[in-house]
Amino acid sequence: MCKLLDIDKSKTTPWHPQTNGFLERSHKTLKTYLRSFVDKDNNWDRLLCYAMFCYNTTVHSSTSYTPYELVFGRKPNIPSTFFKEPEPQYNYDNYVIDLKRMMQEAHKIARENLIKKKVLFYFVIREISHKFVILDFEFFPIDRYSKVLISGAISNSLDQFKITKLEGRPWYLPKGHEEVRPMSDREMHRAMMEIHRIFKKKTEIREACLKQLKISIKTSLNTLNPKFIKNYLDKGSKVCVIILFCGHSDKDILKKLNIYDYTMLNILCYDKNNNQSFYLQLENLKNKKMICEFDLGKIDKQGRLLNLVETHKLICNKKHKVTYAHDPCTDVRFTKCIFDYIIRRYRYENLIKHCY
Ligand SMILES: [Zn+2]
Repeated sequence: MCKLLDIDKSKTTPWHPQTNGFLERSHKTLKTYLRSFVDKDNNWDRLLCYAMFCYNTTVHSSTSYTPYELVFGRKPNIPSTFFKEPEPQYNYDNYVIDLKRMMQEAHKIARENLIKKKVLFYFVIREISHKFVILDFEFFPIDRYSKVLISGAISNSLDQFKITKLEGRPWYLPKGHEEVRPMSDREMHRAMMEIHRIFKKKTEIREACLKQLKISIKTSLNTLNPKFIKNYLDKGSKVCVIILFCGHSDKDILKKLNIYDYTMLNILCYDKNNNQSFYLQLENLKNKKMICEFDLGKIDKQGRLLNLVETHKLICNKKHKVTYAHDPCTDVRFTKCIFDYIIRRYRYENLIKHCY
């Protein structure tokens, strides 16, 4: 049977949890659930199977799937009534009602724990009317008014913030009302020479641009185009809100690509009093209204704006895998961490009042 199902049997030694870390981790979660039940209910042993049911039908942060899906290959059938506030029913003659109550209670506790532990914030987003799309473009200026768009990355709350790279033929974004257009091979080779000139001293960004241009010449991907981005933003029925970090250029690019009918929120980290005290701010890019701000304290830094890497470092202590500087996928991941922080402090209910 193991052969048929492609199962590898591995034997573990006692007192060495590292051997089967995945299982041990699930025990940790189960213990957390049980601790909540023990506090509330003294018949926790009866609730054990419902706690397990919750665990098995909850999206797992490391796999992005529920354990149920991974075993049965389809989504579990959970009655939608679980998402309503539980209405305790104490009629013990009626087993069905009691079962429903306990399942609702278990679901409520599991959900509260998840929110409390700030592990799966997208889990909450799923239940509201808006979706949040984090977006970042990589580009370089050709002259004072024209830009070359070379890559980007996009991710959204409906998709649990799985990052999609925007890659393909670079776009020439000319000044004024001239139409945007994909670049020809000749223009791309000329652009490479331009990059050496524009970023003569900025080694890091120069190498990132050159690397991306070389990839773009060879790639078969075609996600860096207005149609793909627009379809991505319009998918599903929820209101789309675009989240950018220091996103004035990204906003201009979206406008050039004729993608403009969306709420755009901009995150920045600004020394507003010019005394090296930095504030994390969220503003509506279109009407320039400040939505919220958080004091991040004194930081020794020249200049009044912190960049993405500096801001992320203040907020998140996770060691993310960084491929190379200015990789849009890394930038989207960092922006997500910062957006997470804002949502946790400001809360969704307040935020969506500014997203119409
Ligand atoms: Zn982070």
